[in-house]
Amino acid sequence: MKKLTFTLLFMTAAAATQAQNTYENQFSRPLGEVLNEIADRFQVKLKYDIDTVGKVLPYADFRIRPYSVEESLTNVLAPFDFKFVKQNDKLYKLKNYEYPRRTEADGEKLITYLKSLYHDQSSFEQRKAVLKKEVRERLHIDPILAQRVNSEPILSKIRKYDGYTIQNFAMETLPGLYVCGSIYIPKSKGQHALIICPNGHFGDGRYRKDQQQRMATLARMGAICVDYDLFGWGESALQVSSISHNTSFAQIIQAMNGISILDYMIKRKDVDTSRIGVNGGSGGGTQTVLLTVLDDRYTAACPTVSLASHFDGGCPCESGMPITLAGGGTCNAELAALFAPKPLCVISDGKDWTASVPTLEYPYLQNVYGFYNAQDKVTNVHLPKEGHDFGPNKRNAVYDFFIKEFHLDKSKLDEEKVTIEPYENLYSFGKKGEKMPENAIRSVNKLEQYFGKAMIRNAAADESVLKKAQEIIATLNLTDEKVANIATTAVYNHRRAVRDWHNTHPYIIIPEKDKVTGKTLNKVEREMMADKSIPASVHQRLLKDLNRVLTPEQVEAVYDAYTVGKVAFTMKGYYAIVPDLTDAEAKILEGYLKQAREEALECKSMKAISQVFEIYKTKCEQYLNNNGRNWKQLFKAYTDKRKAEKPKQK
Ligand code: ZN
Repeated sequence: MKKLTFTLLFMTAAAATQAQNTYENQFSRPLGEVLNEIADRFQVKLKYDIDTVGKVLPYADFRIRPYSVEESLTNVLAPFDFKFVKQNDKLYKLKNYEYPRRTEADGEKLITYLKSLYHDQSSFEQRKAVLKKEVRERLHIDPILAQRVNSEPILSKIRKYDGYTIQNFAMETLPGLYVCGSIYIPKSKGQHALIICPNGHFGDGRYRKDQQQRMATLARMGAICVDYDLFGWGESALQVSSISHNTSFAQIIQAMNGISILDYMIKRKDVDTSRIGVNGGSGGGTQTVLLTVLDDRYTAACPTVSLASHFDGGCPCESGMPITLAGGGTCNAELAALFAPKPLCVISDGKDWTASVPTLEYPYLQNVYGFYNAQDKVTNVHLPKEGHDFGPNKRNAVYDFFIKEFHLDKSKLDEEKVTIEPYENLYSFGKKGEKMPENAIRSVNKLEQYFGKAMIRNAAADESVLKKAQEIIATLNLTDEKVANIATTAVYNHRRAVRDWHNTHPYIIIPEKDKVTGKTLNKVEREMMADKSIPASVHQRLLKDLNRVLTPEQVEAVYDAYTVGKVAFTMKGYYAIVPDLTDAEAKILEGYLKQAREEALECKSMKAISQVFEIYKTKCEQYLNNNGRNWKQLFKAYTDKRKAEKPKQK
């Protein structure tokens, strides 16, 4: 009896294992296939920002809910950490998990939780101390600040305008690393309020018109305003290339720049240290909040179109370092609340993530300011019909705030009186960087000693892709700088996408036996196929961008650079092997080789590129055979002739 029970038990376990395996095999399906089916079934379009190649979904069909496209998408995407963002009733964007971005509902839950942590000034002060300490640690700012050089900035000549002057500066922070910016100074004598203006990601950076308008208007009213380039933007791009901006250490460097500029400015005799403000829009708004957390010297702050409890800022320069993990979990709204009870104005709009400010973040801030009986010191200017920009209504809100808090002269408020300078007037290093100091670094690699190999590696790799793109476009000798920039960016984006795809899709993802022909594939063939499984949009994007700014001949020259002139080289070979090749034949062969060239654009290694050409060379030779020629014979005759010639050459 005992024995029988054991046998039964054993069999049940084995049967269960077998059943599981059967289920797994039976119900697993490629993710891409399941998504296509969902699109068909619910009559919606799916836009892919994700890579579904090689992804297999277990229990696939069981995850689909016949009554809800959104529940189906959630269930199907969750195992891969993908998500969807609804664009409209008929269109969903599929995206990777985004750690800095949560839903508004998540923001509400976090605010409710944070409010449970403190209920008066003393409990909030305790929280403040924890967060201020931990943000510094998580930002890794103090070890970097300790390595700064203590040199005077290089100052330009002063330019005089109606009621204000402008002077550019280049300040060395870490050895050989400079931050460049401009100081807008009121014409009136005496001490002035100071406003540090970290910049966001608006096109043309700090040089753009609305930035100049804001700096100069505040200066005309009596505040010294200082703005400066984002790391890797403007003149910083002469030192580390624009690629370095999208790195987590950009967040550290920009915080260091803000602190260093204030260190310098506060020593000036014309600065009234009791009135120190900070104001920036978008990413500059995120930096505004961060600077108030790091630096107690600020007395008034105005983050513009940036603040939310559910978004930390999408650029690594805003969220690359994990500062919102401080204190067990925080958000920009709580970090801004640490400024209480000092004057804080939050400017928000109806068309970006700040739409929630009037109902969510602002009431929370009022609650915290209430601990200090300072509810009147926190204000929100909400512009429900406006979007994500630094337009006139946002600028007016900034002016009103600083007029009130810093007692600026409102009678001087007139943007019409501002002179908009050409961009190069605002440069410290000259139009092409010719005035850059000798000790200035010229590659992001030079920052490795401060931030470590792991942090620098990707930026350095991307920098080399950019240099290759610049080399390719340089061969076209374009005279229009804007055209050259667009073409370089197109090639850079493409080569980077190809590299990343290649690195994440090794040849082993392609089965050794070809599905259609049953032929056994070698490693290079599989590598080529893995490379070419890249989404078609990568190829189309390159074509679209290049054709937008280049002539067809120039686009071909770019392709030839990608494929090291293989079309011309192979054609030369055909002319040698088939001495009486007709123009009509040559045209056909060249057509095939140009197809090969275009197909090879997404291949990473030279071997894979050659593999694509091999396929088309076979087509060329078949064509010649069909056209009454005998390729084998022609080729043999050619090689015999070469052999015969060889001794003569000696
Ligand atoms: Zn950024």
